[in-house]
Amino acid sequence: MNPRRVSRSIRIGDVTIGGGAPIVVQSMTKTDTRDVRATVRQIKELEDCGCELVRVAVPDVEAARALAGIKKGVSLPVIADIHFDYRLALMSLEAGADGLRLNPGNIGEPEKVKAVALAAKERGVPIRIGLNAGSMPKTADPNLSVAGNMVNAALVQVHRLESLDFDLIKVSLKAFDVPTTVEAYRSIAEKIPYPLHIGITEAGTPRQGIVRSTVGIGTLLYLGIGDTIRVSLTAHPREEVVAGYEILKSLNLRQHGPVLVSCPTCGRTEVDIIKLAGAVEERLLKIDKPIKVAVMGCVVNGPGEARDADVGIACGKGKGVLFKKGEKVGTVEEKDFLTALMAEVEELAK
Ligand code: SF4
Repeated sequence: MNPRRVSRSIRIGDVTIGGGAPIVVQSMTKTDTRDVRATVRQIKELEDCGCELVRVAVPDVEAARALAGIKKGVSLPVIADIHFDYRLALMSLEAGADGLRLNPGNIGEPEKVKAVALAAKERGVPIRIGLNAGSMPKTADPNLSVAGNMVNAALVQVHRLESLDFDLIKVSLKAFDVPTTVEAYRSIAEKIPYPLHIGITEAGTPRQGIVRSTVGIGTLLYLGIGDTIRVSLTAHPREEVVAGYEILKSLNLRQHGPVLVSCPTCGRTEVDIIKLAGAVEERLLKIDKPIKVAVMGCVVNGPGEARDADVGIACGKGKGVLFKKGEKVGTVEEKDFLTALMAEVEELAK
């Protein structure tokens, strides 16, 4: 695995991105931003599962006005997502947005971009230049790859902000196509010092989207690229946050909550491990501590994995052996598998 790329750090509210800080997990609300109560509720749900930054769409004046109320109701830093209308960016800054996401390319005249950059600088609010493959400028060079054109378009916008003496910059270059995304980030990572927000755009429903995002985000992280991640899924944003942490945990880049080791089950299995592992997974969502829990389907390979975990169970017909920190601590009846295992987990989580 490559060492992490050295990037400059920026702060969005009280969260540091880049400069060697832990990779930040973020998501985006899916409520109508104008509905302050629903949006605040969803942001709190996201905070409860460990989300560290949240972005809200600001498509109109009413949404920009709602931001002030949303900010009052939540403690997570809030990023306003703006397209086309620079006045919405100015209003969002006034309403207390901690960050802006915009594509200066679709904001229009230099004076408008300048007004936003000045107002953001005055408040110390960073701007993410967020380019997607689907919204490339019409000036794209047909002789270059999609990734090459994305990088060039982003560089134009970076230089535009730099020429306004603005450097609280973060960049994203997302595509649905994983190789395009990886090529674009690898290229820009060598050309600018700013932190990178990484993700695969419009990745899809959880089944497809988590795989696609994991391959894309995981490849980049393995290459040392990426300071904050967002998994985009056609699902409740909580799923995005959970998937984000699982990606980081699988590369040992962050610890967040428990790790569940469970066997795939096979012809040796004599109890319903799929159901048991699902129930354990659901309950572990409420535990913060990084505990390793194993649910194994037999006494052949089960004890080995279960012993390696902080808490584990190796299940056989009607009975299971419970392990804690490598020691066998007892035998449990099948009806008590879940409660006995969770009792040990909760004990360790205290
Ligand atoms: S742990 Fe046992 S039941 Fe589970 S897959 Fe391995 S051999 Fe099969």
